[in-house]
Amino acid sequence: MTAEELLQSVAQEVVSCQRCPLYRNTAHGVPGEGSPHAEVMFIGEGPGYHEDRQGRPFVGPAGSFLNDLLASVGLDRQTVFITNVVKHRPPENRDPLAEEIAACSDYLTRQIEAINPKVIVTLGRFSMARFFPTARIGQIHGQAKLVDGRLVVCMYHPAAALHRAELKQTVIDDFQRAIPAALAESKRLAASGKLGAEPKNDDDAPPPQQLSLF
Ligand code: URA
Repeated sequence: MTAEELLQSVAQEVVSCQRCPLYRNTAHGVPGEGSPHAEVMFIGEGPGYHEDRQGRPFVGPAGSFLNDLLASVGLDRQTVFITNVVKHRPPENRDPLAEEIAACSDYLTRQIEAINPKVIVTLGRFSMARFFPTARIGQIHGQAKLVDGRLVVCMYHPAAALHRAELKQTVIDDFQRAIPAALAESKRLAASGKLGAEPKNDDDAPPPQQLSLF
């Protein structure tokens, strides 16, 4: 199957998903959107009110800020892929539960495999925890790390920057420095044969090999 077809089949499953109770009292599942051939993939936490109404990721205030950040590094929503760790809105925007993240994990795994992005950018601590379960966002934000042959950059969540004025410039600086640098580094590593796909099965995955690059 092509990347388009693989993403389409994930999206079809997500919109009718009942793997966990989160689908109850939501208007839409939110699979994610963007280019099947994206070099950069963004992973947020979960849909909020606006995302649930529209069935699209990052379309509320945090999404507007994300659009501005993308534009500031010459990217746009059509050339990247944007998704979340959970695909239905948690009630009242509460934090997703471990069992809800686990129920949705296979969708994210399949999206990553289909797109095979050069760089993954995690937005907030729940998507960071997928790659760095014990890390603290305050310590690793804006750093690129090699995880199973792919560069992963952890960022503060754009919504956090909107609520905490002191974080906003940090988010802008991290974004503008780390994403172009990670893309350039991923191309350099690919040229020297050092990049590879991550393991296919979550359960069989060895602990991530982590190498800080900058
Ligand atoms: N916050 C997220 O983490 N994801 C969205 O899609 C919107 C807001």
